[in-house]
Amino acid sequence: MSGPEAQGASYGQFRTSRNADTGSRSALASEDEHQLDHSLRPHSLAEFVGQERIKKVLGMSIAAARQRGEALDHVLFSAPPGLGKTWLAHIIARELGVNLRMTSGPAIERAGDLAAIVSDLGQGDVLFIDEIHRLARAVEEILYPAMEDFELNIVVGSGMGARTMALSVKPFTMIGATTRSGLLSSPLRDRFGQHYHLDFYAHDDLAQIIMRSARLLGVCIDDEAALELASRSRGTPRIANRLLRRVRDFAQVNEAALVTRDVALGALELLEIDACGFDKMDRAILAAIIDKFGGGPVGVDTLAAAVGEESDTIGDVYEPYLLQAGFITRTARGRVATQRAYAHLNRNRSVGAASRGVCSRADSP
Ligand code: ADP
Repeated sequence: MSGPEAQGASYGQFRTSRNADTGSRSALASEDEHQLDHSLRPHSLAEFVGQERIKKVLGMSIAAARQRGEALDHVLFSAPPGLGKTWLAHIIARELGVNLRMTSGPAIERAGDLAAIVSDLGQGDVLFIDEIHRLARAVEEILYPAMEDFELNIVVGSGMGARTMALSVKPFTMIGATTRSGLLSSPLRDRFGQHYHLDFYAHDDLAQIIMRSARLLGVCIDDEAALELASRSRGTPRIANRLLRRVRDFAQVNEAALVTRDVALGALELLEIDACGFDKMDRAILAAIIDKFGGGPVGVDTLAAAVGEESDTIGDVYEPYLLQAGFITRTARGRVATQRAYAHLNRNRSVGAASRGVCSRADSP
């Protein structure tokens, strides 16, 4: 089976486990939205917008591996959700001309499950493991010799008669994705030859992504509207595409043939997405830190209980952008609201000026 078909075949299993773990923000996406999301994915590094340095280095490694006829060195991507880790894995497999097998850390329960997946890979194939920080320790240990020496150590028998047998597998490329690289054990992290951290996207890049997606969806949108949506996408392509789809619905029911900035603003108001791209939960988090905990510091578990959200979702989905955009800081004793947060929510703080809290379209992360 060629690369793309194989990608489609194993996508279902991956998608189920991912939905369970990225919390309410991605749980909002319906099955249709997933299909649409899939159709918006680019097919080559050249089509992948932004992350220029990563594209350059990856492109070079892919070309070199192809020339040598070898498997690409193992790759680790770390980034908050929605920045393109999965998509890059698809592109890498496509550019290498190999099959892609996708799974996720929590989906592999036993060492034997992983051994079965790895022994089934063809020469140079790519194995993508999302949320690799959530692999069980026993499963992880199977990976070490598999990644290093392309060998599986299988235990045969039990008790006194148990023996370990080394089984060769074909050279393959492992691509791991994680939202929490700090939770990865160092033996596992060290076995990745390439580690890339994806940054939040600048507004111009997001506007470009929105324009491209609009073309694919048959939506007419002007530059100003695209930039407005970009500035409210929290530096995240998945959110940019999601906002575009909602704006498309809004334009359709309001019979607007062209999405202008006014049309976009109408939809954003309905969605309660504010000028910084924050939704109700972002604002609830900031308001809780300020109003309930005197501005902080407050631990993530206490904060999660106060806003009725999972701590992991706060840590993986909401917090990275709030930190990056300077609305909260993280200290050893917990999260603290900054002056920006006070100004954004129109709360008074005795010291400091409120003027820094304004989100403008020029505020790229
Ligand atoms: P992650 O695995 O990091 O959670 P994905 O790879 O699933 O993120 O990307 C989410 C969606 O965002 C993709 O389906 C794609 O539509 C869009 N996307 C991500 N990165 C880019 C990019 N650089 N250019 C264009 N669209 C992107």
